[in-house]
Amino acid sequence: MANSNRGIVFVGPGKVTVENLDYPKLELPEQGGRKLQHGVILKTVATNICGSDQHMVRGRTTAPAGLTLGHEITGEVVEAGRDVEFVKPGDIVSVPFNIACGRCRNCKERHTGVCENVNPARAGAAYGYVDMGGWRGGQAEYVTVPYADFNALRLPPDRDAVMAKMRDLTMLSDIFPTGYHGAYTAGVTTGSTVYVAGAGPVGLACATACLLLGAAVVIVGDMNAERLAQARSFGCETIDLSAHGDVAEQIEQILGVPEVDAAIDCVGFEARGHGPEGSAGEQPATVLNSMMDITRAAGRLGIPGLYVTGDPGGVDEHAKTGQLGLRFGLGWAKSHVFTTGQCPVMRYNRQLMMAIMHDRVQIARNVNATVIPLDEAPGGYHAFDQGAARKYVIDPHGMLPAA
Ligand code: NAD
Ligand code: ZN
Repeated sequence: MANSNRGIVFVGPGKVTVENLDYPKLELPEQGGRKLQHGVILKTVATNICGSDQHMVRGRTTAPAGLTLGHEITGEVVEAGRDVEFVKPGDIVSVPFNIACGRCRNCKERHTGVCENVNPARAGAAYGYVDMGGWRGGQAEYVTVPYADFNALRLPPDRDAVMAKMRDLTMLSDIFPTGYHGAYTAGVTTGSTVYVAGAGPVGLACATACLLLGAAVVIVGDMNAERLAQARSFGCETIDLSAHGDVAEQIEQILGVPEVDAAIDCVGFEARGHGPEGSAGEQPATVLNSMMDITRAAGRLGIPGLYVTGDPGGVDEHAKTGQLGLRFGLGWAKSHVFTTGQCPVMRYNRQLMMAIMHDRVQIARNVNATVIPLDEAPGGYHAFDQGAARKYVIDPHGMLPAA
């Protein structure tokens, strides 16, 4: 029903609920009533739960209670502001999780993850995220998307074909471009050998991207057996880090040499130490240090895994302000190149859309996309936190066809 709205709200550590929300407007109260005539209101078709949401829900950020969550948004335009020229009501669009104005220096240079005009506190903004400008989240029936002509990627006009592939297309708002960015910035190309740390949805999307880019061998490491099995299901080699602490030794068993051409961190600051379960607690620099260890000299490291400037749950005083015990000298000695930060989704989403529409890639199958109604989202958050080998896709209006 128009003019009502429901969505997922962060209540406190470990707790999200489904609540009634205001119907979106073309203005943003959180930024002093900023006018958004360049924006559209979307009826959400699909919106996914992300590992980035879990950092907030686990109480590992300063996210305030009452925040509407959700930055992975695909929706149908139901209203367009006065200044929107090209996106039209009825269009189904994929929305990059980064909010970008299209006018600032960084947007013009295609660094849309660090737009200068959408967050008064710092460069870079996202929907439904702490410290990201106060934009309302899209795990809701309706959501506002600003600068719509710039941000929205119009999906192909054949609505039936688009809806039939919605489980795949919904991954364009974040994890597929993010995983691809990790692989691409790590230099993955035809014949590469690659180590992907983390077999969560971003790691599985990254492994998918590595194969799409032509990697010869993709080795995925995690402690979660079910997620590693998911990686093997589409042709990856795997390392169970709870059984084997030494990544180089495991890589040597697979490749005959203890190093890879490229490595990608799809874990981030909540990384756990390697080794038998129990002996290894949280060690935020583990992945970065092991990637420097196992990547060949002159290799590149892609780092989509998220690192923070403040972590109330950090393991020690350093971790609480985002300072890590990095063996930086090793990376320096090997001339490593590091790429960090939010993925500039817009650099990749159209190309990946084409790969999906023309059956070049099976991203939904590879990340085990699992569709749930809005009311089951709190359960989805819980199961995902427990390490389910699934990517939860919320279907707030029951629009997705049965699998
Ligand atoms: P997730 O929490 O589901 O997956 C993380 C996985 O890492 C888990 O399976 C966990 O068991 C594993 N892990 C823990 N320690 C490890 C270690 N030392 N080595 C290997 N694996 C280890 O999260 P996700 O949704 O897959 O997201 C992964 C990361 O990417 C998160 O930090 C998320 O915030 C980040 N992210 C970044 C961007 C970006 O634009 N840069 C976008 C989306 C997500
Ligand atoms: Zn995300």
